[in-house]
Amino acid sequence: MTLDLPLLPDRTCGECVECCRFIPLDLPELAKPTGMLCAYCVEGAGCSVHAVRPQTCRTWFCVWRVVELSDDWRPDRSGIIVRPDGLTTGEITLYVVRETDFLRSDAFYRTLASWLEQGLSLALSVPGPVGTLPVRAVVTDYLGVALTSGDRPMFDLLLANTLMSLSAHAFEPDGVEPRFAVPDAPTIGV
Ligand code: SF4
Ligand code: SF4
Repeated sequence: MTLDLPLLPDRTCGECVECCRFIPLDLPELAKPTGMLCAYCVEGAGCSVHAVRPQTCRTWFCVWRVVELSDDWRPDRSGIIVRPDGLTTGEITLYVVRETDFLRSDAFYRTLASWLEQGLSLALSVPGPVGTLPVRAVVTDYLGVALTSGDRPMFDLLLANTLMSLSAHAFEPDGVEPRFAVPDAPTIGV
C-alpha cells in the first residue's frame, strides 16, 4: 500500500529502519519475511542500494513521514509504525513493533484521543516471530470510552490487555522466502 499524501518537507527517516525490518516484501527482485531486516539495509543508516531500490521502497512511507507527529513518534523511538493503509479512509493502524515507554506517555494518549475526537477509527497490530503474518484488531470501541473520558489508568490497562492478547495469537507463516536480487545492487547470498 502506498501513500498519496505529500511527504512533510524537512523530515527524513534519520536512523530509523523499522519499515525495512517489519514490513514484508515479496517482489521478483526482493523478498523478505516480516521481521527480517532487509539484507540491503544498514542498521542506523538505511538503504545501501538507495539509487536502485525497488519502486515499492520508493513509494512506501509510514505516516510519521506525512503527518505532523512529534519526533517521539518516529518508529525507532516510539516502537510504533503508523501504517498508511486506511489513512485516507479514516482508519489508523498502529503497528506496535516493540513496547516502549512512549506507549504509556501523555503524548501518545492525547494523540489517540484527538484522533478519536476527529472521528477516526483505531486499530492495533503486532508482529509475531520472524516470518509470520502480523495480527491486527480494530480497537475504536474497546479503547474509546477510556480515551474520551480521560481515564488514563483504564486506557493503560486496556491497551496492555490488547497487546498481550494480540501477542498470544497463533501467528501464521507469511510464506515469504528471502530473495535479494535487485538489479545493479551488490550480490547477496542468503
Ligand atoms: S518506518 Fe517510517 S521513518 Fe522509519 S524508515 Fe520507514 S518510512 Fe522512514
Ligand atoms: S531495498 Fe532498501 S529501502 Fe527497500 S527494504 Fe531494502 S533497505 Fe529498505
